[in-house]
Amino acid sequence: MHELYLAEAVLNIVQEYAAKQQFRKVNSILLSFGRLSCIEPKSLQFAFEVQARETPAENAALQFKILPSVIHCFSCGRDLELDIYEGTCPECKGEEVILVGGTEEMQIIEMDVD
Ligand SMILES: [Zn+2]
Repeated sequence: MHELYLAEAVLNIVQEYAAKQQFRKVNSILLSFGRLSCIEPKSLQFAFEVQARETPAENAALQFKILPSVIHCFSCGRDLELDIYEGTCPECKGEEVILVGGTEEMQIIEMDVD
């Protein structure tokens, strides 16, 4: 359960920030991560709800900005957004492709607090 660990990481940041900024309550948190980073938003939401009890982030709404997976193909020179990365270019079937987006680690983009 990778999401348990991620939820804990978010809460640690929230609590550090709460100590510095003196807010009482977190209304919402916007998180971003790459589509291929194997994070399941529902599991993360659930893990977060459980662990946020009795912290300033209790009942905070998590929002997700999922970054698309993008490859660059050296055979046809295109950058393409993909749903599933299979190691080949869907346009020309070339195998000389690199992933240029989609594996981004989770980050907190915004936090709305009172
Ligand atoms: Zn191609």
